[in-house]
Amino acid sequence: MKSTLGFYGGVGSVTGANFLLDTGKLAILVDCGLVQGEKFAPEINAVPFVYDPTNIDVLMVTHAHADHIGRIAKLVKDGFAGVIYSTAPTMALANVMLRDALKVMAYEHERYGNEMLYDATDVDAALELWKAVDYHETVTFSDDVSFYYSDAGHILGSGMVHLTRGERTIVFTGDIGNVPQPLLSAPEIPKDYDYLVMESVYGDRLHEQVAERTALLAHYIEQTQKKNGTLIIPAFSLERTQGMLFEINNLIESGTLLTIPVFLDSPLAIAVTDIYRQFTHYLSPVIQKQISDGDDIFDFSGLSFTRTMKESHEIESVKGAKIIIAGSGMSHGGRIRYHEQTYLGDANATVLLVGYQAAGSLGRLLQDGAKKVTIDGQLIRLRAEIAQIQGYSGHADRDQLIHLVSEGCNKAKQIFVTMGEERSSLFLTQRLRDYLGAPAIVPNLNDEVEIDF
Ligand SMILES: [Zn+2]
Repeated sequence: MKSTLGFYGGVGSVTGANFLLDTGKLAILVDCGLVQGEKFAPEINAVPFVYDPTNIDVLMVTHAHADHIGRIAKLVKDGFAGVIYSTAPTMALANVMLRDALKVMAYEHERYGNEMLYDATDVDAALELWKAVDYHETVTFSDDVSFYYSDAGHILGSGMVHLTRGERTIVFTGDIGNVPQPLLSAPEIPKDYDYLVMESVYGDRLHEQVAERTALLAHYIEQTQKKNGTLIIPAFSLERTQGMLFEINNLIESGTLLTIPVFLDSPLAIAVTDIYRQFTHYLSPVIQKQISDGDDIFDFSGLSFTRTMKESHEIESVKGAKIIIAGSGMSHGGRIRYHEQTYLGDANATVLLVGYQAAGSLGRLLQDGAKKVTIDGQLIRLRAEIAQIQGYSGHADRDQLIHLVSEGCNKAKQIFVTMGEERSSLFLTQRLRDYLGAPAIVPNLNDEVEIDF
C-alpha cells in the first residue's frame, strides 16, 4: 500500500500545523493552523491552500490552539465540505477560539488593512461539519482506514491521532504535554507505529523550575501582599490561565496564603474556564477526585471575573494588594496592555511571566530586562519588578520527547520531526538517531513523501 504524506505547515516552525495523508481514495488532513509570530504571518495565512480543499474528505483536529485550528474556517470558506473530527472539549474550545480570533482579525483589518481570512458564517459552517469523538473511540472510513485519539496531555481535550490502514499505523502527536501539568494527565505514549509525525517545540531544551514552580508562585503572591502592591500575570487564555487559577485556589484554600483579591480580566479566558467546568472528566484523575470531594477548583475566596471594560478599568481603584490575570500571554494585545501601562512604572508592582515570550513581543522586551517600553504610544520607565517562572510550560521538553519515542519506536520506519524551530527540530532528530538509532528526519515545507500505508 502506498500513500502520500504532505507537510504543508508546521515544519521549520512551531506554528501553522497542516499535514495531508492521501491514500489515493481518502484524503485526510491533520490540523489546519495559523502561522503566528512571524513578520509576514498575515500574508502567509491569506495565501490559498496548496491542495484543493474540495478534495479533502476528513479533517482531524489535535487540539484547539490557534496554530492548529486557526485556518479551519478558511478551509471551509474555500470549499472543504468533509467531516471534521476532534474530542468534544476541542470542539467547544475551537468554537470560542475561532470567534475570538475573528474579533482580533476585524480589528487588524480595520487598523492595518490585513485580509479577513473568514467570517462568522464560515465558523458556523465549520461547526456544522464537526463531530466529537472520545479518546479511544474508533472511527472507520472507506479504504480500510480507521482512527482514534489518545490523550496528548497538552491542553483540555488535546489528542494524538492514531490512523490505521491494514497492518500499518501512523501517529500524529499534535502538541505533547509537559509532565506534570497542573490539571492534566501525562500524555499516553504511542506504541507500535510505523510512522510518527511529532512535535519538537522544546526539542533542544529542558524545562527548569518544575518542582519549585508552586512555591515560586506563592513567593511572588506573598511578596505582593507584603508590599501592598499589584501582581500582574499575563497568561494565555487556554490552559495556562486555568492552571494558574487552580494553583492559587489550592494556595488559598490550604491556608498557605492569606486571601487576596484576584481578578480574571479576560472574557475569552472566562469563556474557556466555563468549558473546563463542562468537561471535568477530561482532567487528570487527581483533579477529578478533588472536584468530586467538593472543591470548585476555579473558585476561591477573593476571585472575581471581570467581563466588561467598565469592570476591568475599576480594578485599578481597588486598594491594597491584588492580582490581575489577563491576556494576551505575550502582552501583544488584550487587556493586559493597559494594566501594564498603569503598573509598569509602579515600584510596588510585579509582572510575573509564566509562559513563552516570542521575540518581538512586549513580553519578551520585559523578559529581556528593558528599562523603558512604549505601549500604545505611551513611554513608560520601568519600576515594577519583572519575574519569571519557567516550570509551567505546556510542552514536553527534550528528554520527555526522547522518552516518548524510545518507548514506542521499535518498528518505526520513519519519524518525522516537525512543529519546532529548525534548530530545535534538527537537535532532537540528531539525538533520536544517535541515542535510539531511530529513523528520524526533518521534512521541508511542502515536501510530499511516499509512505508504506
Ligand atoms: Zn498547542
